[in-house]
Amino acid sequence: MPNTQVIHRHLHHLPPTAVAGQGMWITDSEGRRYLDASGGAAVSCLGHGHPDVIAAMHAQIDKLAYAHTGFFTTDVAEELAARLVATAPAGTSHVYFVSGGSEAVEAALKMARQYFLEKGEPQRTHFIARRQSYHGNTLGALAVGGNAWRREPFAPILIDATHVSPCYPYREQREGETPQQYGQRLANELEAAIERVGRDKVIAFVAETVGGATAGVITPVPGYFKAVREVCDRHGVLLILDEVMCGMGRTGTLHACEQEGIAPDLLVVAKGLGGGYQPIGAVLAQQRIVDAMTRGSGFFQHGHTYLGHPVACAAALAVQKVIERDGLLARVRELGAKFEAMLHEAFDSRVHVGDIRGRGLFWAVELVEDRASKRPFDPARKLHAKVKSRAMAEGLMVYPMGGTVDGRYGDHVLLAPPFVAGETE
Ligand code: PLP
Repeated sequence: MPNTQVIHRHLHHLPPTAVAGQGMWITDSEGRRYLDASGGAAVSCLGHGHPDVIAAMHAQIDKLAYAHTGFFTTDVAEELAARLVATAPAGTSHVYFVSGGSEAVEAALKMARQYFLEKGEPQRTHFIARRQSYHGNTLGALAVGGNAWRREPFAPILIDATHVSPCYPYREQREGETPQQYGQRLANELEAAIERVGRDKVIAFVAETVGGATAGVITPVPGYFKAVREVCDRHGVLLILDEVMCGMGRTGTLHACEQEGIAPDLLVVAKGLGGGYQPIGAVLAQQRIVDAMTRGSGFFQHGHTYLGHPVACAAALAVQKVIERDGLLARVRELGAKFEAMLHEAFDSRVHVGDIRGRGLFWAVELVEDRASKRPFDPARKLHAKVKSRAMAEGLMVYPMGGTVDGRYGDHVLLAPPFVAGETE
């Protein structure tokens, strides 16, 4: 056990001590510098030490650092909500602020359940989600998540959820099948799952618009989410899109679902919302869901101590203002196209690179033992862990993930540079 009193993620080794951050770089206590090519875990969209965000946080702390939402609202939370509603998918009317992605997913699951209670449909108790997905580590989020390794130790204490196939063209689109046919096949699979569970029993289908950490940036085929939306509507099932990782500009539009031409009933965002300057996440809710709770119990039966934290809201508001002022969504698209070309140039000829995929500044490189058969490396080799420590030794932060226990999906390395990255970096 290294000399530490913090319970770290790994109990046998102590990570370097980060002491400073500026732009795309983090410095440790030994003076070593690390190029942050993954924004931590796709968080730091404005890089580190952004003066405008820090100034906004200082100003808010000077005015008011904290006020419990059981007693007060604050101007900064209201302004941030108004801004998010104004730029949200059609029909969004309200925002619920929490402290991160898992909390936001939990809130969305409970809001969806309460919506049906208010509507007099208490028999709706079941969630459907996807394999090879990640929605957070708290128990509800873990239950809908489809990361087998993360779920395994806790499986006996998770609520029951059904998992259908992810949209993973590299591995699961069949030969001779068009992207449209593949997307429709997946929507049919969802519909069959709804019918199996019972069409009046399902609360919601939960999916990441672009699969992130577990799947390695799997982008949906055209038409997949439109077909999914139709299935949900046909059965009165809500659609919850988790854009904790892929949202808030990362794929080149503020919300990834804009590119799919659909609006979810509940949209979950976090990471890029506050860019890591403060812990914050949010649920963007459609009017009819808020109306049902308002007309019904008049109360959302949920809550945490740090809901709508003023300093977190001030940080997020500043991050979002900088993105708009500096035209950073266009920059993500422009830099993303260059980044894509660079990745292909660097890795197309590498025998162990099976796939390079992504959107905007959200990319993954999937590693395979054999390119022709797409056979992944044996997960027991823990290739991802070796890639991460080797990259850190070279002064580079990337976000690798392991293959699945059953060897069905492979290792990948996720890259999510800040929107303000320079081309040389
Ligand atoms: N949902 C998705 C898609 C994520 O990628 C993550 C984190 O990586 C979460 C939820 C959980 O967010 P947090 O770690 O902030 O609780």
